[in-house]
Amino acid sequence: MAINQAAYQELTSFCNTHNTTLVAVSKTKPVEDIKALYEMGQRDFGENYVQELIDKHPQLPSDIRWHFIGHLQSNKVKYIAPFVHLIHGVDSFKLLKEIDKQAAKNNRVIEVLLQMHIAQEETKFGLDDREVDEILNGEELSALKNVRIVGIMSMASFVDDEQQIRKEFLAAKKTFDHYAHHQVANVFMQYLSLGMSADYTIAVECGSNMIRVGSKLFGARS
Ligand SMILES: *Cc1c(COP(=O)(O)O)cnc(C)c1O
Repeated sequence: MAINQAAYQELTSFCNTHNTTLVAVSKTKPVEDIKALYEMGQRDFGENYVQELIDKHPQLPSDIRWHFIGHLQSNKVKYIAPFVHLIHGVDSFKLLKEIDKQAAKNNRVIEVLLQMHIAQEETKFGLDDREVDEILNGEELSALKNVRIVGIMSMASFVDDEQQIRKEFLAAKKTFDHYAHHQVANVFMQYLSLGMSADYTIAVECGSNMIRVGSKLFGARS
C-alpha cells in the first residue's frame, strides 16, 4: 500500500495556511509507509497501540515526534515514557499521575492533552466538563512536576450531520478557551486536537490547531 502524495501536499498546504499541526496517523501501516512520508518532510506521527508503537519506534528516524493518540492504560505508560512526544488521550487523574511518575524516572517532562467526551456515542473515552474542571482545579495537580497539560483532544460523533459535528467541536473549543489563562504552573493550553480525515476542515473552522489524519494519507485500514 503506497501513501497518497497528492493528499499529503494538499494537507500540508492546508495546515500551513491555517497554522495547524498535521499528525499523520500511521496505526496498522508498515514502517515503509511512514518512511515514505518522512522523506516528504513529515515529522509528527500518531499511533494508537503501545505494542505497535514500541515495535516501530526503533526502526525509524529518531527525530520523529511520536504522538500517542489511543486509549492508554496506566500499566503501559512506562513503555512509551522514554520517547513519546505528546500523549493525546489522558482521561483520568490516575493516568496523569502515572505519566508524571514515568516521566520523572526518565528525567523529562511529558506533554499531554486531556481527552474530552463530546460525541453522542457512549463508547468513546473522555472527560466531561466537570471532570476536566476537577483535574485542572484539583489540589494535587501542581505537585506533578513532570507532566504538562498543553491542550484538549476530542473526537466528534461518527455521523454525516455536519451541524452535529460542528456543535461537538465547538463544545471542546469552549472548554479550551475557558482554561486559556489558567493559573497553574503545569497547565498551558496550546493545542486543540480535533479532526480526522472526514472532518478536519470543520474542526479547523471550529478552532482546532492540530489534526490527526490517517486514511486520507495512508489509505483505508483493513
Ligand atoms: C485512527 C484515528 C485517527 C485517524 O482517523 P482517519 O479517519 O483514518 O483519519 C484520528 N484520531 C484517532 C484518535 C484515531 O484513533
